[in-house]
Amino acid sequence: MRVLIMCDMEGVSGIVTWDQVGGGKAGYPEGRQLYTAEVNAAVRGAAKAGATQIIVIDGHNAGGDWRYNSLLKDMLDPACEYVAHHTWTDYRLPLEQGVDACLMVGYHARNNTPDGVLSHTISSAQCRNLWFNDELVGEIGVNAALCGHYGCPVLLMTGDVAACREATELLGDGLTTVAVKRGLSKYSAHQIAPQRARQMIEEAANQALQNLNAVPPYVPASPVTITVEFGHYDTMMNYVPREDVELDQPAQKMVSRGDTWLEAWDKVWPW
Ligand SMILES: [Zn+2]
Repeated sequence: MRVLIMCDMEGVSGIVTWDQVGGGKAGYPEGRQLYTAEVNAAVRGAAKAGATQIIVIDGHNAGGDWRYNSLLKDMLDPACEYVAHHTWTDYRLPLEQGVDACLMVGYHARNNTPDGVLSHTISSAQCRNLWFNDELVGEIGVNAALCGHYGCPVLLMTGDVAACREATELLGDGLTTVAVKRGLSKYSAHQIAPQRARQMIEEAANQALQNLNAVPPYVPASPVTITVEFGHYDTMMNYVPREDVELDQPAQKMVSRGDTWLEAWDKVWPW
């Protein structure tokens, strides 16, 4: 069994501020420790479930030299391989070769979710909303669609209550979730101790991998329309010379179309 672990930092137990997820900030060393320890919990659970290959992809952009490079390598569980420094959604080789399941660890809710700790969609400054066809999505949707394109189901979601709710609405009740905190605002939460969160994630990862068919792969209906609503007019104007996308300037929206989700996504990302 080959398992992919896609991970992000904002939904990790103990993390509630940008300071903890921003490269070079005072809280970042603590954030990296919490992040790596939580990813390890999912690795242990996957190994217990019988995974023969576990690939961890760091999906958090901490800025500068820390782009997609927040895991503390020397702390990583020896049972995993990992990918760092590679632009989000662009490393597809394991999926192309065939992955049995994806576990998503440390995720946050989409932009403007009232109880979503550190909620945003890709970049608070640049993106207000994102739709796949008529479905409002966030980063959970992006990663699930990437996996779904290759027939890979997402079986586990960990993050705050809002992220777990959003993922269940998108992927269905078969999804196993672990809520490690309940957002009281964007920058505060009622939490459980990180060590308890890790126990729960390890157990849930093991349990989720017992049934690889619990969740169908997420595949938006074809043809696929991806709509990006920008946060600022200036950001949208960066796309003016780009071919293959339509701009609705008054609405500050960009629309991309494709026969498949991936075809449409590759026209808009990276921005
Ligand atoms: Zn992140």
